[in-house]
Amino acid sequence: MGRERYKVKQLPIALIIIVAVLAFIAARALLTHFVCPSCGSNFRVGVLKYTFSAHVLNKRLVKCPNCGHAEMLSPVWGKGDENGKV
Ligand SMILES: [Zn+2]
Repeated sequence: MGRERYKVKQLPIALIIIVAVLAFIAARALLTHFVCPSCGSNFRVGVLKYTFSAHVLNKRLVKCPNCGHAEMLSPVWGKGDENGKV
């Protein structure tokens, strides 16, 4: 019986950790942008795309919506600028 109570108690902690990690990723997706090395334009990707896009270390495979150039890019902190100037 003691074991059952232990399991029930652990569940909310796991949920809190999952929610915290998702919130962290979502915040990162919202607070970072990418700079296209091909045309220099700034762009952001959606939270879901950011979360599930292929990534190595902190680089993510993203495609520039302006020129279509796809590359592994590091996200840059800041919301970026619509006009492509940092
Ligand atoms: Zn581009």
